[in-house]
Amino acid sequence: MKLDILAIGVHPDDVELCCAGTLLKEIRSGKKAGIIDLTQGELGTRGTSETRHREAAEAARIMGVSVRENLKMRDGFFRNDEEHQIRLIRAIRKYQPDIILGNVLADRHPDHGRAGQLINDACFLSGLSKIETTGDDGIPQPKWRPSYFFQYMQDWYHEPNVLIDITPVIDLKMKAIEAYATQFYTGKTNTDDPEPQTYISTPDFRESILARSRMLGKRIGVKHAEGLLTTKLIGLENLSPVILNET
Ligand SMILES: [Zn+2]
Repeated sequence: MKLDILAIGVHPDDVELCCAGTLLKEIRSGKKAGIIDLTQGELGTRGTSETRHREAAEAARIMGVSVRENLKMRDGFFRNDEEHQIRLIRAIRKYQPDIILGNVLADRHPDHGRAGQLINDACFLSGLSKIETTGDDGIPQPKWRPSYFFQYMQDWYHEPNVLIDITPVIDLKMKAIEAYATQFYTGKTNTDDPEPQTYISTPDFRESILARSRMLGKRIGVKHAEGLLTTKLIGLENLSPVILNET
């Protein structure tokens, strides 16, 4: 199945938190999108890999992605080495996306930065024909290099290169995040919640997601935006995609 856009996250919920709005906008414009989770998030304090799996499937349904696959690398202990690069190259060649969204190259959680480096390397190496891989059917895969790898911002602030207006889909993005009921605040009071509170399970964390998208939205004169980083320059055919506003 060829995808236009593939979002990759090391933990199920990274994509929802950081680029669900961008993904939703792409899907709304008719693009075919998918998600690959590298790990099952099995080291998370709250929930289990089974509950995370169910929550990820529900979030995928809410966003309308065509496929969601989990590569089952080891949460916390996967490496950016040949074995893991080959596993990711096989997935990139399988879906042949023109654009990849993925983890940022450095962040508070070391998994995020290591995953960002792994995705970055796999995107390049996937375009080398002498790296031979086979698909699930055992048939050799042709080389494939995505045109762009955009990194989404996570905990640490990085000055973005691109801001995407996600105002029309912000409610749907928050619904996709709330699908992870074991991870995030969904309106329950603490007394209803038997699991230990974490950095991400509080109402404050939910507010911080909205605060950042408001802050980034203000930079381009819209209500909510997501920021993306790219080392490769973006070319436009003309200036018509630019949002005109009084700033
Ligand atoms: Zn994460």
